[in-house]
Amino acid sequence: MANLSIDAVKEMTFDAIVIGSGISGGWAAKELTGKGLKTLVLERGRDVKHVIDYPTANLNPWEFEHRGQVPLEIKKQNPIESQKRGLFNEATMHFVVKDGEQPYIEDKPFNWTRGYHVGGKSLLWARQTQRWSDFDFEGPARDGFAVDWPIRYKDLASWYSYVEKFAGISGNKDGLPHLPDGEFLPATEMSCVDAYFKDQIAKNYQDRQMIQGRCAHLTQPKEVHYQQGRAKCQHRALCVRGCPFGGYFSSNASTLPWAAKTGKMTLRPHSVVHSIIYDDKKGQATGVRVVDANTKEMLEYYAKIIFVNASALNTNLILLNSTSSRFENGLGNDSGVLGKYVAFHNYRARISAQFEGLMDKTTDGKTPNHSYIPRFRNVHKQETDFLRGYAAGFGGGRGMIQNKEGIGATLKEQLLNPVLGPWNVSSWMMGETIPKESNFVTLDKTLKDPYGIPQMRFSVAFDDNDEKMIQDYLEQFTEMFTKAGFTNIKPVDSKSAPGSDIHEMGGVRMGKDPRTSILNKWNQMHACKNVFVTDGACMTSTATQNPSLTYMAFTARSADYAVKEMKKGNI
Ligand SMILES: Cc1cc2nc3c(=O)[nH]c(=O)nc-3n(C[C@H](O)[C@H](O)[C@H](O)COP(=O)(O)OP(=O)(O)OC[C@H]3O[C@@H](n4cnc5c(N)ncnc54)[C@H](O)[C@@H]3O)c2cc1C
Ligand code: SF4
Repeated sequence: MANLSIDAVKEMTFDAIVIGSGISGGWAAKELTGKGLKTLVLERGRDVKHVIDYPTANLNPWEFEHRGQVPLEIKKQNPIESQKRGLFNEATMHFVVKDGEQPYIEDKPFNWTRGYHVGGKSLLWARQTQRWSDFDFEGPARDGFAVDWPIRYKDLASWYSYVEKFAGISGNKDGLPHLPDGEFLPATEMSCVDAYFKDQIAKNYQDRQMIQGRCAHLTQPKEVHYQQGRAKCQHRALCVRGCPFGGYFSSNASTLPWAAKTGKMTLRPHSVVHSIIYDDKKGQATGVRVVDANTKEMLEYYAKIIFVNASALNTNLILLNSTSSRFENGLGNDSGVLGKYVAFHNYRARISAQFEGLMDKTTDGKTPNHSYIPRFRNVHKQETDFLRGYAAGFGGGRGMIQNKEGIGATLKEQLLNPVLGPWNVSSWMMGETIPKESNFVTLDKTLKDPYGIPQMRFSVAFDDNDEKMIQDYLEQFTEMFTKAGFTNIKPVDSKSAPGSDIHEMGGVRMGKDPRTSILNKWNQMHACKNVFVTDGACMTSTATQNPSLTYMAFTARSADYAVKEMKKGNI
């Protein structure tokens, strides 16, 4: 402990510390404050207040000074982010981490996507939310990869219900054994081309289905959502700018204001957590070291329990950087697996096509959602030469054809009256990757970031199993598209590096055996009982579902356990 007066130590002391204010940290804050704990939430980025700090949320296209483009000067300063698709544009670039903020070393290429501000990636996510089933939890043991999960679906089911009711998840009860139904608000509507493809799949295949995506949008808010100050989704589909209605779930709209209302939360932005302090004599963690992002001053905060929710790979970084005489290779790392078995989702393959049917119809308005084809490969038995499988997204719409020929009034007339073209449809794969010891992150021994924290080295790559899965997806979907009568079918393997897939997991995995895992079945460190990890770092395997709903459920369950253990005097 730093040399501080008793009063100063008291001021820096809380019941609980939560590292990170994104999807999982927001839930930890809500649950711990809700159970009466004085909780400090440490966030490395700036504050983003719901509604107030969404500067582009209501801008019309013509109101963007650079017509949606990132100014050249900012592009030049951020060559890495500039290469990425999607979020680095004039409407959302203020939510994107700039190149110099946290450099890292790519021993193998990795496109690390991060959101460093209050709310984390909860402001950027696509809001797709599916439960896991026992086909997923039993996967590693059944198929003989990774270690066995220490829990099964029954351990998490009621916690899924708990978080779904609060967050607000829309969807249909589809009755699929490998994608359990949840506590759904009414589903968003499928477009007619999606409904057509759904019927075609049902007609041509017995082993696969297409369903409407389950997503964290308030299609019919309930009292608990109004209490959060949120309202019905207006289908503006401008969600990544921040939603002024709170129509989708984010920490900013939901869990953090709820935690603040208890009066028990202290939220400290601009606080880059350096490491966790471990006390050899007490045999437990006593607090965290923080670099103030503005002053670069090193501070210490103390608490009885610590929740690490910095997002999967930053959680790895913090734990690897938390060394002590007891844990020379990182906090809780008796097994030596910390930083290893990093896995992710494989989004490399896409397929697009056109459809010339349904020409008397078009889509009406916008949708923030799309359709979803749950995993159908190797679900009930091993049937391919690769392990596990993939889910897929699907969506379509009619493009506009603008005739740009001619001159003067005719040209103006044509440009003002574009005609509808054929349907453009596309699908994208979301494959499970197998956690392997050879996919790992470590800390560089000399290079530091601007806060004096070691830079992370990435050694994470696709393997043969992923390559085979990509081929299978492209073959299966080419066949499915052909059978549906789609034309101009274009299968593409983007060959993009891992990371672009935005669902990184592992490195601090859960398991039954402390010799091969870091966390027990309560997301609690085997070797340091007052530290809990409930973000993607805890994942023993990845399944194919979008992961954040599972992090929410883990966090609520783990917080409940932690507080009960505190009350019993066990931690
Ligand atoms: C474009 C996009 C689309 C996505 N779509 C989906 C989807 O449809 N469904 C889905 O389930 N998931 C989706 N995801 C993934 C989802 O956003 C993440 O799984 C989720 O946000 C992870 O939650 P988290 O709490 O672990 O991390 P985050 O939400 O990233 O929050 C981590 C927080 O910790 C802070 N932090 C990091 N390091 C430190 C430190 N050293 N000290 C203090 N604070 C720190 C960060 O600034 C951040 O605020 C998507 C992600 C992106 C980028
Ligand atoms: S689609 Fe819904 S959630 Fe997204 S910005 Fe619009 S109103 Fe908000």
